[in-house]
Amino acid sequence: MSQIILTGIGDVDDNVRLEKNPDLTVDAGDLLVAIEAAPVNPADFLLANGWYGVQPEIPSALGSEGVGRVLEAGSVSDRELVGKRVVILPTYEQGTWSSSPPATSSSCPRTPTRCNCPCWRSTRRPRTSCSTATSTSSVERELSEPLPGQVRLRVETCGVCHSDVLAVEGLRADPSAPIVPGHEIVGVIDAVGAGVTAWQAGDRVGVGFLGGHCGECEFCRRGDFVNCADQPHTGTTVDGGYAEVAFARASALVRIPEGMTSIEAAPLLCAGLTTFTALQQIESRPGALVAVQGIGGLGHLGLQYASRLGYRVAAIARGTDKAELAAKLGAEHYIDSAGEDPGAALRKLGGAAAIIATAASGASMSPLIAGLAPRGRMMVVGAAPDPISVQTTELIFGTRTLSGSLTGSSIDNEDNLRFSLARGIHPMTEVLPMADAAKAYEHMLSGQARFRVVLDMTA
Ligand SMILES: [Zn+2]
Ligand SMILES: [Zn+2]
Repeated sequence: MSQIILTGIGDVDDNVRLEKNPDLTVDAGDLLVAIEAAPVNPADFLLANGWYGVQPEIPSALGSEGVGRVLEAGSVSDRELVGKRVVILPTYEQGTWSSSPPATSSSCPRTPTRCNCPCWRSTRRPRTSCSTATSTSSVERELSEPLPGQVRLRVETCGVCHSDVLAVEGLRADPSAPIVPGHEIVGVIDAVGAGVTAWQAGDRVGVGFLGGHCGECEFCRRGDFVNCADQPHTGTTVDGGYAEVAFARASALVRIPEGMTSIEAAPLLCAGLTTFTALQQIESRPGALVAVQGIGGLGHLGLQYASRLGYRVAAIARGTDKAELAAKLGAEHYIDSAGEDPGAALRKLGGAAAIIATAASGASMSPLIAGLAPRGRMMVVGAAPDPISVQTTELIFGTRTLSGSLTGSSIDNEDNLRFSLARGIHPMTEVLPMADAAKAYEHMLSGQARFRVVLDMTA
C-alpha cells in the first residue's frame, strides 16, 4: 500500500502555491500530494508553520480523508498519477480487505467517497489513493410536492463553486448519502408549499449556500440569520442545483431583478455575496485602501465591488499575469505576492484599511496582516485547510482585527444583486450545459476556469 506524503497547500484560486519542504524526499511507493480539500479538523494534521511534513502514518494524521493533486510519485509505476487529483481514503490494515469493492458510497461501509476507479478493480482492495477522484453520476429523484414553508424550482442555471467539493467528494457528516451539489441556483418557482405567502409560481428566484433560516432559534430571534442554528446548506446537507428541479425554504429565496440574466445572477449568489457582504462589514471611508487577495471566482468579483463602492483598490495575486485583468476589474495597484512581501507592499501604499482574503490558503493570508493600517481589518472568506498564523503584537499595536464572514442572508443577497445591476458588476463566466456537469466541476477544480463556471439547464 502506498503511503501518502503531504506537503504544501494547494491554492485553489491561483493553483500555483505548491511549494515543498526541502528536506522531504518522496520514497518508492509514496506520493507527494498537494491538498485541495480536507475535512474540517486542521489541527489533526497540520504541523508547525502550516506545512505538512513527512508522517509515517499520514492517514490517521490526516483525520483519514482528503482530496488533493499528486505532485510527485516515488515509484515509476505510480508516475501516471502525477498531476491527477486523488482521494485519500481512510487507513486500512493491509490485507484485511477481502470483499469485492462496492460500486458506490451508499453501499460502501468504509470509504468516505464513492470510488469505482481502476485501482479498486485491479487490486480488489482499497489503496490510499485512486486516480478518479470525481464521483459525480446522475440520479433520478421522484418529483415531489414542496414541504410546508418550501418552494419547488425549475432550475435555469447553477454556478459551480469550490465548496461543491463538500458534496461531490463526500466530505461531509454523512458521506454515504449522495447529495446533489450546487448552491448558486437560479430558477423559476413552479410549486409553493403550505404556509408560503410571499412567493408565487412564476417568480424567478435565487438560492445561495445558506438554505434558509429557521426564524425560531436564538440567533434568528436576534436577527442573525447567517448564524441560524437550524439552516440547511444548499448542495451540501440538502440537494442543490446541479439538477432540473430544486427545493428551498422560502426564507432562502432571493428575488432576481429584471434585467439580470440567470447566467449572470448565479455566480453572484455565492461568490458575489461573499465578497459583497465582507465589504459591507469593513466600515471604511470612501477612498480608503482596500486590498483583495486572490483573483479567482471570489476575487474577480471582490475587485469590482470594492472599486464600485468607492475604495482605492489593491489586487494581490501570485505572479504578474493577472495584473492587466486586475486593472480592468478596478484595481489601482497590483501586488505580486510571489515577487515581494505583500504586507510590506501594502504598508508602502500607506497600509490597507481592509483586506478581503479569498485564496484558499491560510499560509498565504498570514503575511497580509502586517499590511493593515491601524484599525484595519482582514476579512477571511477563502476556506483553507491550513491555519493563519498571526503575531499577537500585529493585532495589539495598531488595534487590528481578523474576522471571518460567511456569505450573507437572503435579503443581503437581494441588495447584492440590485447593487451589481446598478453598478455594472459582471461575473466572468464559462457556461456549460447540464449534461456536462462533471466536466464543469473538474474544470472548476483545475483552477483554470476564468472565473466562474455556470451550468445552463435550459441549453
Ligand atoms: Zn459557494
Ligand atoms: Zn434559526
